[in-house]
Amino acid sequence: VLLVDEDRLREDFLALAEIGRLPDGGVSRTSFSDAHLLARRWFHERAAAAGLKTRVDTAGNHSAVLEGNSPDSRTLLLGSHLDTVPVAGRYDGALGVLAALEALRTVKDAGLRLPLTLEAVDFSDEEGTVVGLLGSFAVSGMLTQDLLASPRGGRPSFLAAIAHAGLSEDRLSDARRDPASLAGYLELHIEQGPVLERGGFDIGVVTTIAGSRSYRLTFEGARRHAGTTPMKARRDALLGAARFALAVSDAVTDRFPGCVGTVGGLEVERAAFNVIPGCVRVLVELRAPTAGQLDALEAEVVDHMARDAAGADLALTVERVGRWEPIDLDASIQTCIVDVANELGLTATNLLSGAGHDAQALAAITPTGMVFVPSVGGISHDPAEYTRWRDCVNGANVLLRVALRLAQTPETL
Ligand SMILES: [Zn+2]
Repeated sequence: VLLVDEDRLREDFLALAEIGRLPDGGVSRTSFSDAHLLARRWFHERAAAAGLKTRVDTAGNHSAVLEGNSPDSRTLLLGSHLDTVPVAGRYDGALGVLAALEALRTVKDAGLRLPLTLEAVDFSDEEGTVVGLLGSFAVSGMLTQDLLASPRGGRPSFLAAIAHAGLSEDRLSDARRDPASLAGYLELHIEQGPVLERGGFDIGVVTTIAGSRSYRLTFEGARRHAGTTPMKARRDALLGAARFALAVSDAVTDRFPGCVGTVGGLEVERAAFNVIPGCVRVLVELRAPTAGQLDALEAEVVDHMARDAAGADLALTVERVGRWEPIDLDASIQTCIVDVANELGLTATNLLSGAGHDAQALAAITPTGMVFVPSVGGISHDPAEYTRWRDCVNGANVLLRVALRLAQTPETL
């Protein structure tokens, strides 16, 4: 049975974790920062050292390529991302890119000539310090003008970041790949939640990536003197926002199983001890496995509960900020992941991904599968993020063997 070289993978993992390393052991490689660009150059050097071809597209996606046995072989993409949130752990994204590279090296070293080209990709800006899924949206042809007009991190920092990476806004969309040239996309990732660890499973098979919608709500009352305004004469915007936050948590917990709703931010305008809050902005995010559930959540939380919380005294405005549709991953690849896991003596279970991934962009244009490995304590986006090395290796072997299996029967993709 062909397996990855776990010592070589380990060596790469430790070397990459040094790039953008924080004193407490985490890493910081935000999109297109010096550390991120250095990590991408390192990735290409490792690929070249293994005799693989390298490529960079107009969205800055960095790839290592192992060509198939014919000039018109379609490409099976394997990948993830090397960028991180500002204070991150060492596994999120990094494991998927390194395992993809290791899979290509293993196939090359074994002298296998496959009917599919294998490409290990490091997608640009998955984490969204700039746009979010910038590289994978570009590849999928989903990089809209709207997205670029109001990037998550704001226009000035978007323009500065892509200039720093040597990219041009006009050419980002040229990274689009013809779906007919692709055979599929596979991504290994840490779970970033507690389900696999709690259930004692080795491998998670992602069925669906949850969709999300986000909103900025503004509650407006009257900014008045906190000493002279009687309790009954107040229009306190913060009380409306607080009622709303409690109601969202209760309603989603009680009535929307499988969904999550979060009030992620409360901003009190010109806050002071002696002033009744006149204006409070609230950040709300809803996630669900189906569009129908998202519609129901939105109707309940945003249309109904926010209005109730505002009551007669407060004015309410709702701004819709972001929207990612839920997406189901390929059913036959899910079956293949389970078969391969069983063959390796690993236990596997289906699960939903509550977090967004490059796979959700790719799934729109090519058959896509995702493999999860356990996150200890479910911790992620934090230096304490940890996945046992045995689980990292298991995930890399599953990725390799699913890729080999799909390459043996490319007509099924
Ligand atoms: Zn990630």
